[in-house]
Amino acid sequence: TEKTLAIIKPDGLLGNHTDDIKRKILENGFSIFREKIVQLDEATVKRFYAEHSAKSFFSSLIKYMTSGPALVMVLEKDNAIADWRALMGPTDAKKAKITHPHSIRAKCGLDTEKNCVHGSDSTKSAQREIFFFFKELSAD
Ligand code: ATP
Ligand code: MG
Repeated sequence: TEKTLAIIKPDGLLGNHTDDIKRKILENGFSIFREKIVQLDEATVKRFYAEHSAKSFFSSLIKYMTSGPALVMVLEKDNAIADWRALMGPTDAKKAKITHPHSIRAKCGLDTEKNCVHGSDSTKSAQREIFFFFKELSAD
């Protein structure tokens, strides 16, 4: 099996989408291997999203991700990384509503920033991100 890092971002948690999202996760054959609620601070988001530090939306992204608590999860199943990305839908929730109406971002997201969920985009990212939030899983 494979593990990936998923986050229900602050808009998802505040908007009461957590139960729906978790139901979808389990219905689609994932198990929730670890989960915890975190209040991200600016320094942590900067490190987590370091690859986007030069982007014009970076400061806005930091504001968004620190705006309230987030639920961080390690999901596990065969092909978890790609399957979770597919279940989330495209980055732009507005476009997702048209092209992927059953996706999580279509249902819970708002636009290209406030898109409700995160998922690791590769094996390498998954390893880095799982260790980032769950240090004890370093050897997996
Ligand atoms: P994530 O990494 O959160 O799973 P993603 O891989 O679909 O999302 P990225 O390109 O990695 O998208 O962007 C990271 C996050 O930055 C997005 O999920 C979104 O919240 C925000 N973001 C991306 N593009 C924009 C943009 N053009 N304007 C504002 N915010 C953006
Ligand atoms: Mg990404």
